[in-house]
Amino acid sequence: MNIKENIAFFLNEIESLKPKNQSCKLLAVSKTQPLKMLEEAYLHGTRIFAENKVQELATKYEALPKDIEWHLIGHLQSNKVKYIAPFVSLVHSVDSLKLLEEINKQALKNGRIIDCLLQIYIAQEETKFGLSSTEAIGIFESPEFKDMKGIKITGLMGMASNTTNQTQIRKEFKSLKTFFDELCLQYPPTDNINLKEISMGMSSDYRIAIEEGSTMIRIGSAIFGERIY
Ligand SMILES: *Cc1c(COP(=O)(O)O)cnc(C)c1O
Repeated sequence: MNIKENIAFFLNEIESLKPKNQSCKLLAVSKTQPLKMLEEAYLHGTRIFAENKVQELATKYEALPKDIEWHLIGHLQSNKVKYIAPFVSLVHSVDSLKLLEEINKQALKNGRIIDCLLQIYIAQEETKFGLSSTEAIGIFESPEFKDMKGIKITGLMGMASNTTNQTQIRKEFKSLKTFFDELCLQYPPTDNINLKEISMGMSSDYRIAIEEGSTMIRIGSAIFGERIY
């Protein structure tokens, strides 16, 4: 794996595939990868890393330069929020009001406002975490949410089905974009809502995701190589 070439490849893919007047960021998904690999990506300009486990995220944050943005993309348990609240830049995987309440609480303890995405369930599979569109609106409409001063919802995250059926994947990404556009009309910016991000697309489906309006692609194996668990 040539990390430098892979990063350059993806930056180029983003430029050529993204709709005009829109930007899309490259997130390096570094889960399971040793620090050496992250350091190499950093050397070649990567400043946003995404991890799916709290402990690993905290350990890597401690070890690496402080101008890195750290994103959490995996399922987050409420009792672990406190370990990442001091530094995390974006939590992609908010899937309950209870979790959001805990992030809010820990953010305020740290004197911060933590940006969050609501993870929306768009895949056909049963196993993926996430909210339905009704549940997401339920969060925005809840009295608890209206009082939260330690979080800001900056957009949505979704994962398409793990399939080779491109039509199906495109349909799922389109559904996330459509829901995002509806929410933007319904919820103009407030103290804790500012909808601008759609986190969708991974190594296998990033092309479709960018074409369908992704603002953040989460690329792991196509940058760093296969993960060894
Ligand atoms: C691991 C992971 C990715 C990256 O997957 P690759 O196929 O290696 O690019 C993206 N998003 C989430 C939520 C992940 O857990």
